[in-house]
Amino acid sequence: MKAIRDGLVKRVLIVDLDAHHGDGHAEALRQCVEVKILDFYGADLFPVVVGPIWRGVPFERGSRGTEYLATLRRELPAALNTLSPDLVVYVAGVDGYERDPLTAGYFRLSREQILERDRFVFEQARSASIPIIMVLAGGYGPFAWELQYETVAWVLRRFNDEHPVPGDTPSPAPP
Ligand SMILES: [Zn+2]
Repeated sequence: MKAIRDGLVKRVLIVDLDAHHGDGHAEALRQCVEVKILDFYGADLFPVVVGPIWRGVPFERGSRGTEYLATLRRELPAALNTLSPDLVVYVAGVDGYERDPLTAGYFRLSREQILERDRFVFEQARSASIPIIMVLAGGYGPFAWELQYETVAWVLRRFNDEHPVPGDTPSPAPP
């Protein structure tokens, strides 16, 4: 909000891939026309939002990870093209993981598919030269931090050469 108020960004896209519908930011940003929300969520997981979601994509219980990723490959580029955001805020919930105890069996994303999802979001934003912020979100098992760690570690390896951490040595480009 401050970045919008200060004129640093004009259009913000929130990409909410947490398994739950993002009722909090949808409600908080209800009046904020600069912010649009692309939200993937479980169709009957709490809560169901009737707020200002720009595009909500419901999934039925037992959805396949491959179906989820195929939908993301269609929806995210479409959102970036249509909205031309100058900032992406990525809500990177890992509760779509197949072993998540709270959403068990809902999305059935494997560990590899969670990382593939996150990489796709970053690469899409990067190829469109749009700055991206990732925030942590849901994930309810003892493994949640590992999934998030894998993504953060990949981001650091992938982009370190462009934005090196002071004192860090450049790493070879990942394949
Ligand atoms: Zn969640």
